[in-house]
Amino acid sequence: MSQPTYHVRIKDTVTGVVRECPQTTPWDSSTIFWWQEGSYSCDCNRELEFLRTGDEPLPAQENDFCLGHCRYRVESIRLLSGEVLPFDDFRFEGAK
Ligand SMILES: [Zn+2]
Repeated sequence: MSQPTYHVRIKDTVTGVVRECPQTTPWDSSTIFWWQEGSYSCDCNRELEFLRTGDEPLPAQENDFCLGHCRYRVESIRLLSGEVLPFDDFRFEGAK
């Protein structure tokens, strides 16, 4: 497995469990956008990251529809330097 490039702190708002999910994609100017509005803004991909980090089994098949933006909330992003960036998860629809 490749070395992490940054970590995303994701909270499962159903169980209250929080995990720091290691990422291996480059940290660059589009990363925040990717998590706020791109393919990692919705629960489909966030759930996979969350389950992988916890060594939990992944769903056997892909969803036929988007899971939306209501369960997995990104709280912050931690860079390799140790700096923690607050994350504005404005598309998240769950309870604050
Ligand atoms: Zn989706």
